[in-house]
Amino acid sequence: MLVAQGQLQSDWVTGTLAPSWKVQGLRETPLPAESPGWWGTGKLIEFCSYLPDLSVLYQLVASVRRGSCHWCGIDVIGDRCVFCSAMPPDHDSPPRAQLENRTAVG
Ligand SMILES: [Zn+2]
Repeated sequence: MLVAQGQLQSDWVTGTLAPSWKVQGLRETPLPAESPGWWGTGKLIEFCSYLPDLSVLYQLVASVRRGSCHWCGIDVIGDRCVFCSAMPPDHDSPPRAQLENRTAVG
């Protein structure tokens, strides 16, 4: 986990979140200069983390819907766009042949 401490006085990320996620390493980095402007406040803590086991990550990514957000166009993994929070518009069920192909491949 990489942590950039802003002016927010809290140890929630390092003391609560990191242990509950069982992070295997924790490093601190300076807060990017643009962050307070982006968030509208300097009272913040930014962090990022990733799954080190690529086979688990592959299974997770391969098991959910992938596509492009109909609203902002970025790649979406899952149902909700992580950038704009848009949900996909309702679609009719895919044709039966498409479902069978998907089963055969998977
Ligand atoms: Zn979007």
